[in-house]
Amino acid sequence: MALLDGKDLAKTIRKKVKEQTAEFTKQWGRLPTLHVILVGEDPASEIYVRNKGRACKKAGIEFHEHKLTADTPADKLLTLVKSLSNNNAVDGILVQMPLPDHLPADAVIAAIDPRKDVDGFHPVNLGNLITGKANLVPCTPLGCMKLLEEADVSLKGKNAVVVGRSTIVGKPMALMLLEKHATVTVCHSKTEKLAHIVAEADVVVAATGQPELIKGEWIKKGAAVLDVGINRMEDGTLLGDVEFHTAAVRAAWISPVPGGVGPMTIACLISNTVKAGNARLGAANASRSA
Ligand code: NAD
Repeated sequence: MALLDGKDLAKTIRKKVKEQTAEFTKQWGRLPTLHVILVGEDPASEIYVRNKGRACKKAGIEFHEHKLTADTPADKLLTLVKSLSNNNAVDGILVQMPLPDHLPADAVIAAIDPRKDVDGFHPVNLGNLITGKANLVPCTPLGCMKLLEEADVSLKGKNAVVVGRSTIVGKPMALMLLEKHATVTVCHSKTEKLAHIVAEADVVVAATGQPELIKGEWIKKGAAVLDVGINRMEDGTLLGDVEFHTAAVRAAWISPVPGGVGPMTIACLISNTVKAGNARLGAANASRSA
């Protein structure tokens, strides 16, 4: 069994992004810039934002955090998103999810300039993902694809099973696997006979938020297993959505939790930020000189 080591690959990607950042600065005369909006005081979200800020700084990306109180009205948040969208010095905008219940997450995402949507959640970018033409795609499934690619896992014609159908992980993951010619099945909380479906999979991606839902004995021998789940248990330990030790005996490749998909998500975010800036500024330059 080979470990799909996200820590290691993320390090390589971050190093590459640092080089791209230097190129960006040479070309555009300033650092690439990411703005993150955090509404409320959810402790997990605060940690995620802090980690994103650290990764940006290390890669030479300018990072701005906009901290808004939990009772922020929708119009104030939308005004901020629109002003960042209209600011030419901003390359990436990320609104940390989940938002407090009174805020309209869909409208907030739709207010982001799709060219700056580094999370890849804007309907334009999700639409482009369907046609296989997206520049910016969601970071977590992108990180999974990079792990598979790095390990040279064959996808063409293979059975891939994605467990979870969220807009941020499951659905885009299924589209990306389809783009690489896998035969994709998407399972969810209403799926019947999950064990039987997983048992047929050459590639399993688990993104449910249910600790150890996927049992090791379900895994086909030689399969690749990507565990997206991050479940904090009462004793403080982190568990994935896959029963790691029993699955590792059967799988040919498996990602651990922590140290698998998690670090890849942040690496892909900083990579998307430089990509977003280059694409937008490059297009503006091209249309000026046309
Ligand atoms: P979500 O709650 O939006 O979606 C969960 C999905 O799992 C749903 O589609 C649901 O139908 C499915 N599901 C739930 N119970 C199921 C069951 N018993 N059988 C089959 N399907 C079931 O969650 P999400 O945002 O997609 O995140 C999923 C997990 O991934 C969470 O643990 C989250 O913390 C983690 N996550 C990790 C990263 C990362 O960077 N590693 C990023 C995003 C999410």
